[in-house]
Amino acid sequence: MAALDGLPPLREVIARHGLDARKALGQNFLLDLNLTQKIARTAGDIASHTVIEVGPGPGGLTRAILALGAKRVIAIERDARCLPALAEISEHYPGRLTVIEGDALKTDFEALAPGEPVRIIANLPYNVGTQLLVDWLLPKRWPPFWDSLTLMFQREVGLRIVAQENDDHYGRLGVLAGWRTRARLAFDVPPQAFTPPPKVTSTVVHLEPVAEPLSCDSRTLERVTQAAFGQRRKMLRQSLKPLGGEALLSRAGIDPQRRAETLSVEEFVRLANAL
Ligand code: SAM
Repeated sequence: MAALDGLPPLREVIARHGLDARKALGQNFLLDLNLTQKIARTAGDIASHTVIEVGPGPGGLTRAILALGAKRVIAIERDARCLPALAEISEHYPGRLTVIEGDALKTDFEALAPGEPVRIIANLPYNVGTQLLVDWLLPKRWPPFWDSLTLMFQREVGLRIVAQENDDHYGRLGVLAGWRTRARLAFDVPPQAFTPPPKVTSTVVHLEPVAEPLSCDSRTLERVTQAAFGQRRKMLRQSLKPLGGEALLSRAGIDPQRRAETLSVEEFVRLANAL
């Protein structure tokens, strides 16, 4: 890390500030400069963007984002123990890093950098990451306040985000991401890249908003996909019974004997609009 920005190596920072990783906060830190730069680069041009980073921890990814020239970084971290280490990075890059102590799940992201082009980059605990992704995919206004999302997930979750119909991983996440974004898997990250190592392989997913997704109410689309995939092995006439069953499917022009995983995003949108 020293070669990247002249700041001390992350292992030293972690030791000096006593940042032993806490499982309850999903803390698996990245200490490898090459890797954090690779993640930051996946986000594309950041020089003209404000980057919102969620869960900076001791700052490995934050440092890469700043060293690669992000105009400004706003980082939200829940663990107050990390703040002194992050303050050192802030001092090193005057005026470019703002750290907010708080819970990302309770943060109003749209209000953080109004009117500025925003990219979001995060290596988050997976449960928090999935919830945030759904929130970022379902704002009232579209195009959204962000130009891209570059997020670390368990590989399994990454596969669900980019899945299309007739794929075992296809479900609610695949429909929501497929409806409003172009999503791709960027690269895998093995467990041993993290300190401490998690049990499974991770993957970096990059999503960019589609300018004009098919018109439909996002909450209704969510309701339909939840009902359909809640009983994914059943025929739609059964799984969608609470929402109108065969009558709904007939209005949408969809065979009631089909199963959720065979429906394209466009067909889910038709269902939501019929509802
Ligand atoms: N970005 C650092 C890295 O790559 O080494 C840390 C990644 S670690 C997987 C996840 C970070 O998210 C931790 O620093 C943890 O404290 C923080 N975190 C966990 N839950 C959070 C929440 N709800 N809001 C904000 N930060 C959170």
